[in-house]
Order: sequence, then structure tokens, then C-alpha cells
Amino acid sequence: MEIQNDQPPLRPSWDEYFLMLAKLAATRSTCLAFPVGAVIVKDRQIVATGYNGSPSGSVHCTTQGYCYPGLSSCDASSSLPSRAVHAEANAIAQAAKHGISCAGSSIYVTLEPCVSCLKLVISAGIKEVYYETTFNKGEKAMVRDLFVSEDLVKLKQIHLSEAITQKAANFLLKPTSIPQV
Ligand SMILES: [Zn+2]
Ligand SMILES: [Zn+2]
Repeated sequence: MEIQNDQPPLRPSWDEYFLMLAKLAATRSTCLAFPVGAVIVKDRQIVATGYNGSPSGSVHCTTQGYCYPGLSSCDASSSLPSRAVHAEANAIAQAAKHGISCAGSSIYVTLEPCVSCLKLVISAGIKEVYYETTFNKGEKAMVRDLFVSEDLVKLKQIHLSEAITQKAANFLLKPTSIPQV
């Protein structure tokens, strides 16, 4: 039986597309805190990607089974800094390593940047931040808002639609490019 379908194929918006890629990058995370992924985009082209993990060459938190001895997470201590390079910092470092400018770009992240990463984002010339989950509260949110009020960067929370999430999950669960007979 021929299936009638007058609807055009469902396509993700650009925001959804890059957020999904950031979520895929997060699957490579090697920190036990929580997975975060980032994609830097300029003119709808990917400049660099990143995820949170130990500095290049250092043992992964996931490999040693802890972030610091006795600490299950890089974020579990109020005094120790995170062992992991955050996803945004890693993406910016990747761009730097390959001599690619981030000026005038946007970044898509699965988590709102912490203040340290936000400072780095601003100084790298990244103008827009699109994130899925909020992070900064209290004084940290205040610092973020000061940078925003200075017009240094724009932040916007975005979400994937249910339909696009379902389509992407289906694409991941089985071979994608099979002719429809
Ligand atoms: Zn860690
Ligand atoms: Zn950060």
C-alpha cells in the first residue's frame, strides 16, 4: 500500500541542528561531573567542537574512576578547581590550536556557560550563546547579567522540539540512509 504523505520531511531548525550536534559532542565527555558539549558556529559552519574532560594527555576522570582521589565529581569540591577543561574552553582551545578565529561566531552548549567560560567566550569574540539548561544562580547570574548589560554577549535558552528529538533518536537507532521502497 502506498503511503500518502503531503507533509514535507521534518527538518530541524539551524538552532536545533547545532544544539543536537552539541549534545552528540557531550557523549564524548570524560568527566564524572556531568556531560557537556559545545559547538562553535560561524555563518552556519562549524568552527570547532568540544566536550568537558581532562586536559589533552591527562588521564580521564572516567578512566581513573574519580575526578580527584576521594571526590566523585570535578564539581564536588568548593576549593578544588575542576580537573576538566569545560566544553566551551575546549572548543575555543581547539580553534586556537588550529589557528581558526572565533570572532563574530556563536556557541551552542548543552549547559549555560559558567562565569569562567563566559569570560573566555567573550574574549574569544563569540557574540551569541545558545544553551539548553540553565546553570548560573545568585552572584554568578549577577556577573553574567553585568556582561550582558555591557552588550558583550547575548544568551538565549533553546530547546529541541519533541518531533525533532524523536526523528534524531530514530536516525541514531538504525541505519539512516536506506532507500524507501
Ligand atoms: Zn572530572
Ligand atoms: Zn565552564
